Amino acid sequence: MSDLIAIERPCGDCMMCCKLPAIEALDKPAGKWCIHATPGAQCNIYEARPTVCRVFNCLWKIDHRIPEAFRPDKVKAVLAIYKEGVLIVYPDKAYPTAWKDGELGAFISGWPEPFVVETGKGKMVVRNVPK
Ligand code: SF4
Ligand code: SF4
Repeated sequence: MSDLIAIERPCGDCMMCCKLPAIEALDKPAGKWCIHATPGAQCNIYEARPTVCRVFNCLWKIDHRIPEAFRPDKVKAVLAIYKEGVLIVYPDKAYPTAWKDGELGAFISGWPEPFVVETGKGKMVVRNVPK
């Protein structure tokens, strides 16, 4: 993401990256709380958390292009970097259309780069590949 200007927003009590994405290293399926999480409070193995957690690229946290109002627990979806130049959406299964609705949906539809959506069990679907 060539025009990413790094920022650092505080997570507060969000913790959606400990619930929404599948994490193979922890044998954690998408949409289930990690067994090491106390929801809304903390990671109970924070100092020993695996690398996948240490390097997770939550865009709301680091990318100024993601509006402040889109904190993942508020919009029911985590946006992250899938690979160079590609956005990934991890939807909250309890709100399966939330990422397509309202301001977040409009924002994602207008995203200038490709994006994929995690559909569960590690499966991805490509939603948009601009020419
Ligand atoms: S999903 Fe993003 S904002 Fe929420 S806890 Fe994880 S890194 Fe922080
Ligand atoms: S190990 Fe900790 S940081 Fe990683 S998903 Fe579990 S609770 Fe979250």
